[in-house]
Amino acid sequence: MSQNVYQFIDLQRVDPPKKSLNIRKIEFVEIYEGFSASQSQAQADRCLACGNPYCEWRCPVHNYIPNWLKLVNEGKILEAVELSHQTNSLPEVCGRVCPQDRLCEGSCTLNAEFGAVTIGNIERYITDEAFKMGWKPNLSNVEKTGLRVAIIGAGPAGLACADVLVRNGITPVVFDRHPEIGGLLTFGIPAFKLDKEVLINRRRIFTEMGVEFRLNTEVGKTVQLADLINEFDAVFVGAGTYQSMRAGLENEDANGVYDALPFLIANTKHIMQHQQTEDTPYIDMKNKRVVVLGGGDTAMDCVRTSIRQGATEVTCAYRRDEANMPGSKREVKNAKEEGVQFQFNVQPLSIEVNNSGQVTGVKMVRTELGEPDAKGRRSPVIVEGSEFVLPADAVVMAFGFKPHAMPWLAEHGVDFDDRGRIIAPEIKGYQTTNAKIFAGGDAVRGSDLVVTAISEGRKAAEGILDYLEV
Ligand code: FAD
Ligand code: SF4
Repeated sequence: MSQNVYQFIDLQRVDPPKKSLNIRKIEFVEIYEGFSASQSQAQADRCLACGNPYCEWRCPVHNYIPNWLKLVNEGKILEAVELSHQTNSLPEVCGRVCPQDRLCEGSCTLNAEFGAVTIGNIERYITDEAFKMGWKPNLSNVEKTGLRVAIIGAGPAGLACADVLVRNGITPVVFDRHPEIGGLLTFGIPAFKLDKEVLINRRRIFTEMGVEFRLNTEVGKTVQLADLINEFDAVFVGAGTYQSMRAGLENEDANGVYDALPFLIANTKHIMQHQQTEDTPYIDMKNKRVVVLGGGDTAMDCVRTSIRQGATEVTCAYRRDEANMPGSKREVKNAKEEGVQFQFNVQPLSIEVNNSGQVTGVKMVRTELGEPDAKGRRSPVIVEGSEFVLPADAVVMAFGFKPHAMPWLAEHGVDFDDRGRIIAPEIKGYQTTNAKIFAGGDAVRGSDLVVTAISEGRKAAEGILDYLEV
């Protein structure tokens, strides 16, 4: 590291360059170019190596951040990538999609006054570079136990669980109903945030490590859980949360009203040239006025997807003000740059339709922020007489997700809480009420983040190792 302790003043925080707006408005390609070697080394050198690394504590997988920043600064990429994989199964993904402003970078000692170290981009850089150099995990010293674990769901939770198990001599066999691994990483998060090749490459790496994948295979339909329980030594469930939330608006089932996730899944399948399915037909926003209801990351993904599909006008309508939006500030900024319009402090009242039942707009009412609630969050209060109609040819509901029903699990003694989440406490190693079945990720904690799903998948793998006495 630099001898100059004030290097964070001399060298400001720099974010990687973005592609030109002309490209960003029409193409489904990652908008960030990534750091060069010299940029990464210089930005890593801004780390103070403060004695108490808050970044490390705030990171849900507790990455050894200052240590790999030092290795990057010294140009030791192969050492950095090994260290990075000790705590994270998909560091190149987290580096791209974690809301760093709320996690590691938000806790960086330099954040308030000088600009946080660009931790996420450097994490991404380490693995991207190592792969370019031909690096892959070395499992030659791992002794095979002969044990096999079935993993239901190839999302970040399932993949992280498989990663830890295979490194401990257990053969994970991962089942997923989709044609590619990644779960929401592939079929939810759009390619402008996370290139689809990243997960295709990971499938190759995991396969070479000894993980088996059975894709296009739905548990409860194509294969039965009873057979997996008989055939395997344990089962891990990382099935996510797939029930879209609705607002209960009049006419919300009208033609032209869509749920966010089927819209995003179908768009990604279209780009990846996978076959459309009945439940996710391709939805084309070309030449349409699109209104997206909601203010989280999913809403940002929908507005930016609509722009790229060629919508004439795209508006995000959110019931609080900009400062209270739950989505990442970075993504709101990106959406604005790409031409998305925002209506803040508005609440939908009903969907307006024509005589053929086709959506024509959303009836809205303006809101203002009231007194803070018990959690300190100010709730929106309706402004009387402020109704107006926002014209729309298509409306996307992006109000979030809750757990979907999984009767095939309940039949085997797995209990759910009153919100439909699988009961699998951390203190019990993420074991469910069926001792042979473990679970983690969104299906257990409710919709959350990639990095928390990875954390739970890894911890559940430790629980499985204890259960199997490995
Ligand atoms: P999932 O990723 O949902 O994976 C579950 C997998 O299980 C799926 O592949 C599914 O096909 C499979 N499956 C389910 N049931 C079965 C069955 N019966 N048989 C076989 N397979 C089955 N988080 C971030 O950190 N950053 C972001 O920028 C971000 N953006 C997001 C954007 C969108 C649009 C959405 C919806 C979410 C976003 N998230 C983001 C949240 C994040 O993607 C999830 O928290 C995370 O993917 C959860 O991981 P998981 O493994 O628990 O579930
Ligand atoms: Fe930050 Fe996420 Fe990486 Fe942790 S995993 S260091 S929170 S980007």
